[in-house]
Amino acid sequence: MSLNQVMYDYGAQKSSIREIAAYASARKAEVGAGNVFDFSLGNPSVPAPQQVTDAIRRCLALPPQELHGYTPAPGLPSCRQAVAESLNRRFGTAYSGEHVFMTVGAAASLSCTFRALVNPGDEVVVISPYFPEYKVWIECAGATCIEVPAARPSFQPDLDALAAAVTERTKAVVINSPNNPVGVVYTEESLRGLAQVLKDAEERLGTAIYLVSDEPYREIVYGCDVPWVPSIYDRTVVCYSYSKSLSLPGERVGWVLVPPTNPEGAEVFTAVAGAARALGFVCAPALFQRVIEACVDVPADVAAYAENRDLLTSGLAEAGYTYVEPDGAFYLWVQALESDCEAFFRRARALELLPVPSTSFGCDGWVRVGYCVARETIERSMPAWRALAQSYR
Ligand code: PLP
Repeated sequence: MSLNQVMYDYGAQKSSIREIAAYASARKAEVGAGNVFDFSLGNPSVPAPQQVTDAIRRCLALPPQELHGYTPAPGLPSCRQAVAESLNRRFGTAYSGEHVFMTVGAAASLSCTFRALVNPGDEVVVISPYFPEYKVWIECAGATCIEVPAARPSFQPDLDALAAAVTERTKAVVINSPNNPVGVVYTEESLRGLAQVLKDAEERLGTAIYLVSDEPYREIVYGCDVPWVPSIYDRTVVCYSYSKSLSLPGERVGWVLVPPTNPEGAEVFTAVAGAARALGFVCAPALFQRVIEACVDVPADVAAYAENRDLLTSGLAEAGYTYVEPDGAFYLWVQALESDCEAFFRRARALELLPVPSTSFGCDGWVRVGYCVARETIERSMPAWRALAQSYR
């Protein structure tokens, strides 16, 4: 049997985050759900807002063909327009539905964007630590994934390192703010600095470099602003999803925005559409495009995550851990108590604590603790976190 080895390997290796989650489920069956502290997945614990449920109910009254039929490939015009108008209200922009391509979540937004932008041999720069699926999507698009470590201790983009990494083969730089796995929000100053690095490189090399802004956590912030990237850098493509903000990860709905600030915006949009076609996406889910149209301005319920964040950070600080103060998303980036984060993870796992070792995100020495969990999980896990710290004294 001769299969595609690359695809076989992706299927066989699985994501280590999902493997930890699967271990957690098996372990819960063995020792009881209340005794296992699964901090692995970014699966929102906050329920979808009531407005989402109400919109679904209203949609169910539509004629079945309308409800379940194909939509145009870029999405329902009314939904695309609603998304554009919502962005215009929030960011003072002048987008129309023509700039919005509805997708099957951020995974599809990014896959389509990489496919649209790169040719074989191109390079796409990511800032490590980074969401591990970027590498899969970049490589499947035929490009090489170039990892550039974030600045320490801020975990903001390291502008000098980025300037040094950009070559004539660089087609795009990916940013993710609020950031998974670190929880930082990139400051306006960082973004302006990054924009300058890219503009200088474009001028020096005579190339076009895109900034791909992956923003599924945009609304999940704890009192700080998330600058609107297309207002800072013209060649920005924004990838978004409602998986986190409206707690709809299983429904698979999001969008790509190709702002008209892009000098070749119309061509990029057409290539995104071509990539969606080539990847077989056909259209985003019809029901959920209608739900998004109705709920486009419904706020994310950040209060529960804020409470979890406070509980977790104060508990871990008291137990002696060092972590990056999270400004957004729902992950805490905690320094492992030994340099080998896999060894630290194994010791944590023996106490039924299941964070994700930082090797999954392209660096050593840390773990990611996802706090999109029930409050009780955090409360009940504290003796184990204390015991883990104690075991290193
Ligand atoms: N980008 C980041 C940074 C994420 O954390 C995730 C999911 O966890 C995704 C993209 C993919 O999101 P979606 O579930 O909408 O495909």
